[in-house]
Amino acid sequence: MNAATAPAAVIEISQLTTRFGSHVVHDDLDLVVRRGEIFALVGGSGSGKSTLLREMILLQQPAAGSLRVLGVDYTGIAEAAAHALRQRWGVMFQSGGLFGSLTVRENVGLPLREHTALADRLIDEIADWKLALSGLESTVGGQYPAELSGGMMKRAALARALVLDPELLFLDEPTAGLDPTGAAEVDQLIGELRRQFDLSIVIITHDLDLLWQVTDRVAVLGDGKVQGLGPMAELAELAAPAVQAYFTGPRGRAAEKGSATWKAK
Ligand code: ADP
Ligand code: MG
Repeated sequence: MNAATAPAAVIEISQLTTRFGSHVVHDDLDLVVRRGEIFALVGGSGSGKSTLLREMILLQQPAAGSLRVLGVDYTGIAEAAAHALRQRWGVMFQSGGLFGSLTVRENVGLPLREHTALADRLIDEIADWKLALSGLESTVGGQYPAELSGGMMKRAALARALVLDPELLFLDEPTAGLDPTGAAEVDQLIGELRRQFDLSIVIITHDLDLLWQVTDRVAVLGDGKVQGLGPMAELAELAAPAVQAYFTGPRGRAAEKGSATWKAK
């Protein structure tokens, strides 16, 4: 592909090194996420997925290397630029991160209260719209997080991540802890969001169904580097042990089979 037809990058990571004391988590790591794609980060526990996510959303600084997100270089970034950038992405943390003392509607509207001067009534309306978009009924807005099921909690957290109309969405384990039906619904929702909006999505996940059915490309982290990168069907052909761990065994094969029928819909 030449420069004119290559999709623009939303995230460019180059020669990134992360250390905690003498423990090297990322070792000269390079990674590019393209505009408009659903990209997944996978890897064993402790391979540095969450740390990489924190670095991508400006919560943590690497020891060396460069990060560029939505065209903004993080090297020496000023607070004003960081603040502006935080409004251009949405993050759904693994725990959901909803405040227990606020209603679901208030939780979803919170980023708008922080970042805009919109009237309360308008913020509530936008929050309700994002809740509907995430597949929740309007009555859920008045409930408290403790009253929600796991699946509803994930949807509410997604609604909050979407409330500022982000260009880039980060999802940390969006299907973890859900039953198969709930997980399949979230898979479908992620696919729909990308179709409806001009979104790029980065997902951290272990969920093989999600990987096969929704993602465009997947990066496998291991030993501080990207061990494999590509669409699932291509990765499945790679022999590297860190990559094969995701494809061998009955669960991997079942997820691969399921993908053929689902994607055709
Ligand atoms: P993953 O999300 O892939 O399971 P993490 O990014 O959470 O992995 O962690 C990668 C490695 O970095 C682990 O060995 C973890 O113990 C270590 N680590 C993460 N955060 C810290 C921290 N704040 N201080 C020390 N070590 C950390
Ligand atoms: Mg993690």
